[in-house]
Amino acid sequence: MERSKKIIRTSFIGIAVNLVLVAFKAAVGLITGSVAIIMDAVNNLSDALSSVITVIGTKLSGRAPDKKHPYGHGRVEYITSALISVIVLVTGVISLKESIEKIITPEKATYGVASIVIIVAAIAAKLIIGLYVRGVGKKLNSGALEASGSDALFDAVLSGGTLIAALISIIWGLTLEGWFGAVISVFIIKAGIELLGDTVSSIIGKRADKELTGKIKETLCSYEGVRGCYDLTLHNYGPERLIGSAHIEVPDEMTAKQIHKLTRNISTDIYMKYGIILTIGIYASNSDEETAKIRETLNSITAEYPGILQVHGFYADLEQKTVTFDLVTDFSADSQAICDGVVGKMKAAYPGFEFFAVLDSDYSD
Ligand SMILES: [Zn+2]
Repeated sequence: MERSKKIIRTSFIGIAVNLVLVAFKAAVGLITGSVAIIMDAVNNLSDALSSVITVIGTKLSGRAPDKKHPYGHGRVEYITSALISVIVLVTGVISLKESIEKIITPEKATYGVASIVIIVAAIAAKLIIGLYVRGVGKKLNSGALEASGSDALFDAVLSGGTLIAALISIIWGLTLEGWFGAVISVFIIKAGIELLGDTVSSIIGKRADKELTGKIKETLCSYEGVRGCYDLTLHNYGPERLIGSAHIEVPDEMTAKQIHKLTRNISTDIYMKYGIILTIGIYASNSDEETAKIRETLNSITAEYPGILQVHGFYADLEQKTVTFDLVTDFSADSQAICDGVVGKMKAAYPGFEFFAVLDSDYSD
């Protein structure tokens, strides 16, 4: 089954469980005539909201690319995750407010058998559904499912706190519900902020997964004629759609025909293996021995700068007396100063030559 169908099915299970809880609570509430239990049932109805949002978001994100959104609609998933994270956050804030009110003016709660039965049933149901939904979310890399699973788990923890408080109240006559609630609320708020931060980070554009970039680079370098691969960038349009580019270094004697064949093969291979549309750029690499000395000088000069992470794309044209190379610098380093320093030292070492350095960003590992 495809990913979106699995997400929707999981969300519907979440909705169903909540609806069963609503029916169960409403029935008990009506039989016992307890307004509190009926209100709790209504509250459960809103818990199905995160699952409903997930379903709508998944449907929207699955729409095919169109003229206005040629990269597809996959990023809708990040927006749904953000919405559900906000629901978790709001749940935490509301329950903290209620808990503080209970601490200030503790009300002697009267727990009937009915309400305890309901609390236990709700905890069990929410715990199971929460773990299940969050697990599927992690497996499918769906932030929305993960967040809505966490939402259910927090409900279970909150109810658990209420239950323990109820038992303490029955046995020792102490009302601790407010304190329990406050502590749990703080945890929920923290988790909500983390979930939201995670999603916002995806929207801003995260550093690509180290394992994935490692594998892609390995594939790129495995081709005959490829002397090195650099500048791998990956942009995501939702968890399922990745578009990127990379540079490969090839011998300068290679013909356009050979390069054409090579890059076609690589792009197809990468797409088949990882589902990534990768554009390949070319760096020529010297095939003669004479340029090796210049390269060695460059290596020893760049070694003096700890801010330089990598030197690549070196190419020396002895006829034109030009040398080009790329410097990948650390984000915290003063890249321009490093670049000027390296070029200056190279010019001093080879007065007749022109040096052109390109500053590359440290896009991926
Ligand atoms: Zn480069």
